[in-house]
Amino acid sequence: MRPSKRLSLIPPYLFAELERKIARKKAEGVDVISLGIGDPDRPTPALVVEAMQEAVTEPQTHQYPTNRGRADFRQALSDYYERRFDVRIDPEREVMPAIGAKEAIFNLNLAFLDPGDAALASDPGYPVYTAGPLLAGADPVVMPLVPELGFTPDLSSISAQDRARAKLLYINYPNNPTGAIVPPGFFERVVEFAKANDILVVHDNSYSEIVYDGYHAPSFLATPGAKEVGIEVFSLSKGYNMTGWRCAAVLGNADAIESFWKLKTNIDSGLFEAVQLAGVAALSPDADAEVASMNELYRIRRDLVCEALREAGVHVKPPKGTIYVWAPVPEGFESSAAYCEHVLEQAAVVISPGSAYGPSGEGWFRISLTTPDDRLQEAVRRLAAL
Ligand SMILES: *Cc1c(COP(=O)(O)O)cnc(C)c1O
Repeated sequence: MRPSKRLSLIPPYLFAELERKIARKKAEGVDVISLGIGDPDRPTPALVVEAMQEAVTEPQTHQYPTNRGRADFRQALSDYYERRFDVRIDPEREVMPAIGAKEAIFNLNLAFLDPGDAALASDPGYPVYTAGPLLAGADPVVMPLVPELGFTPDLSSISAQDRARAKLLYINYPNNPTGAIVPPGFFERVVEFAKANDILVVHDNSYSEIVYDGYHAPSFLATPGAKEVGIEVFSLSKGYNMTGWRCAAVLGNADAIESFWKLKTNIDSGLFEAVQLAGVAALSPDADAEVASMNELYRIRRDLVCEALREAGVHVKPPKGTIYVWAPVPEGFESSAAYCEHVLEQAAVVISPGSAYGPSGEGWFRISLTTPDDRLQEAVRRLAAL
């Protein structure tokens, strides 16, 4: 058996060694608490589950969906974008479903990149921003997120050669893994940069609904000119506790969406219509209270974690969005991975090394807030005692 060359380009799974160590500890009977993965622990809101239950009893949802998506799902997304972000979306031409943001981000590489092309990828960032271009036979070019610039990339430092061969640019705010929100003016600079260099911007909007302290996360598409140069991937996974459902959409530039549609008609057969109907329920104003109460739960957890880190001598600014606390590795450890191993050994708590999200994540670690309260409290007690 000979796997493809393209598969060998993907770096080894960074959590493999950590996962082996966790499994060994658990087998030894150690009570390991994981703060590693960002996967909401609370159930999907009841109104979404009930909409799904009803939808699956309808035989017309059982057949192949179209890749364009149901008209009511597209309309729900359009209404939501207007209500939530003050952005107009043409439900016919400017939106289509995706089987999760991950699927959309990966397949956009196949739709837009050829060998020799490049994709500019936020670093640290969601791993598909770099694995996707590699699997498409193209080159990821990382853009370090600069802490002093509010974890945005310095666009002026991108070389002329990389500007010329780049066809995609991946950004994400509120940001995984840094928890950063978009600083004023950054989206505007991205639009200008994309216009000047003929690059399609892909804004990964996976966290707009998980926000704190009165912050309201904007859509990239609300930026003047954004629809001419960009698309946004909107996911219901994190904000609506729907990671297992695979419900997302791509919105924005109509030509880009047409290309994405053409690609997808050759790859998958659409998003299960019952899931689209569940998505309609999630996007209705009726679900707003659910989102607000989830955010209050995460806010309490965020404050708990930040306070414990302060006690342990690690100073962090509480994030205004996402389910992550991003913090610098304390003095005396040679790498993020070494520190995370130390925490696992000494406290039996799993945290993510920043280096797992790209070279610029080195020197940082990430804590996810998606662990039930009692377990998180216990983990935090152990961290504070380190
Ligand atoms: C979780 C996550 C995704 C994946 O979302 P799905 O819709 O579940 O595929 C994409 N991007 C970022 C930044 C994420 O954190």
